[in-house]
Amino acid sequence: MSNMRVWIYRLLTIVWLGLFMVAIQFGSSGRFTEAGVVLGVVLALIIGQALMLKCPACGIRPGILSLVFWSLFLDPACYIADVLLVKECPRCGKPFIKNKLL
Ligand SMILES: [Zn+2]
Repeated sequence: MSNMRVWIYRLLTIVWLGLFMVAIQFGSSGRFTEAGVVLGVVLALIIGQALMLKCPACGIRPGILSLVFWSLFLDPACYIADVLLVKECPRCGKPFIKNKLL
């Protein structure tokens, strides 16, 4: 697992959050077609993000765990925090980031 992949995983959150803001802008100005298209991209990014990180040791995908768990609680803020702060596998504890400062 390279650190690069973990950083891409984290940064994708910023990308879809930004796009989500754009969708809200479109929606509030009555441009629902554009809002729908952007929302579709946001959803695709979230799903792609959940699929891209896989624990090399036990094979679980922590993004999917977080997504399912926090969707149940309807708490996107916790999901975002989970993704942005991911450091190790939630199941076996194997670190994803080699540099301990991050
Ligand atoms: Zn693991």
